[in-house]
Amino acid sequence: MALILNVSYQEKDAAKTLGARWNNELKKWYAPDRSEYHKFKKWILQDRDIAIIVCDYFYIIEGKHRCFKCGKETEVIGFGIENYYDMYDDSFEYFSGEIHIASGVEPLSTELLKYLKEKYNFYLGYSKTTQSNYYSNHCKHCNVIQGDFYLFNEVDSPFFIDSIEKAKNLVLNKVVIKNDLILNADIGYGSEDNLIKEYGKIHLLNNNFNL
Ligand SMILES: [Zn+2]
Repeated sequence: MALILNVSYQEKDAAKTLGARWNNELKKWYAPDRSEYHKFKKWILQDRDIAIIVCDYFYIIEGKHRCFKCGKETEVIGFGIENYYDMYDDSFEYFSGEIHIASGVEPLSTELLKYLKEKYNFYLGYSKTTQSNYYSNHCKHCNVIQGDFYLFNEVDSPFFIDSIEKAKNLVLNKVVIKNDLILNADIGYGSEDNLIKEYGKIHLLNNNFNL
């Protein structure tokens, strides 16, 4: 496990001094040790205020949802984040043990995006509500975008977990990653999130997502 960093040629000496190492196969610098990740804040945050580092694995979580346009039931996905660092300002904290559901997770590898598009109709779409493009769920029947706000924030959404029944309806596909991942993500925190791991159906997904 390591953390791949985007270090420019000009910055390589600074990164090296902090303990970064060179991966000759990927032609990238990386931070080899989790206890040292905080030293590489500059490359982790880059021009952002906040970033998360997902460790070990994440989940593609399937839920059922009724399309607001055609009224048919369609499958939608969110991402399950369990072991991760949260980095912002001077804060750098590790969280583990409970699965939280996230949206707006990016960047994702080309291989994973291809898989999500083919299997779940999840791809870059335009939302009239937010007037922006983002990777989003689309109805399998009528292809209409199923906006993140309704899927992740509304009480009756499949990813708003407030009962054992709702947690039981989730299918979690576990994606093991080779290296820790720096991501943008909008993580939702619910007081009943402990139910997700306890009652959701977890499967290991044999993947070739290059993550
Ligand atoms: Zn539809």
